[in-house]
Amino acid sequence: MRFAIFSDIHSNLEALEAVMADARQRRCTHFVCLGDVVGYNANPCECIQLVRQLDCPVVKGNHDEQATFPASSERFNELAERAIEWTRERLNEEDKEWLRSLPLQRRVHDFTIVHATLDTPGQWGYVFNNLDAVASFTYQRTPVCFFGHTHVPMVFVRDDGVRRQTSEHIRIEPGKKYFINAGSVGQPRDGNWRAGYCIYDIENKLVELLRIKYDLATAQKKITKAGLPRLLAERLAMGR
Ligand code: ZN
Repeated sequence: MRFAIFSDIHSNLEALEAVMADARQRRCTHFVCLGDVVGYNANPCECIQLVRQLDCPVVKGNHDEQATFPASSERFNELAERAIEWTRERLNEEDKEWLRSLPLQRRVHDFTIVHATLDTPGQWGYVFNNLDAVASFTYQRTPVCFFGHTHVPMVFVRDDGVRRQTSEHIRIEPGKKYFINAGSVGQPRDGNWRAGYCIYDIENKLVELLRIKYDLATAQKKITKAGLPRLLAERLAMGR
């Protein structure tokens, strides 16, 4: 079994299609989505449709949650807020109902998936360092857990202590725990514009972090044409 694990699509259809095509080419047999299907970019309905067609495990992100509310309850920055208002107006009731139905975390095969953190998944905290990761590891019952939310691919390992592993190829070793950020499909923020996702090969106990080129220019054009803030298009090229 080869799982393609992707997060933070954020309505970027071009990036999502490129990731799907790459995953199929790399013989992935299963798909998993870590949330934030919508928000920021210009194709929320199309991205929801594509993810729903996969009929795969999906957990809820904070933008997915906010898109289902009549008005925002979380303090988003101005860019995120303008995009989520725009998104809310475009989603139909059925799409909203589907987003509402998503769980905050779940188990898939022998691993766990969550959008933000395992200690308080509905509070949308960010895991950027070892100390943040410690709290999630406390609640991690499987050797491997995949998460998203920061838009920065990152691997934390717990054995005697907690440390970061910087390699893009991770061998899952017995007796250790792994808390792995799959990066972001539709709005990477590590200075690299390419769409991020990862593959978990269950039999070979290997996780691979990948970056894929996509049709950035089209995604940017759609954002400006939709009347969304121009900065949302510009940041895609910077990977910020
Ligand atoms: Zn996100």
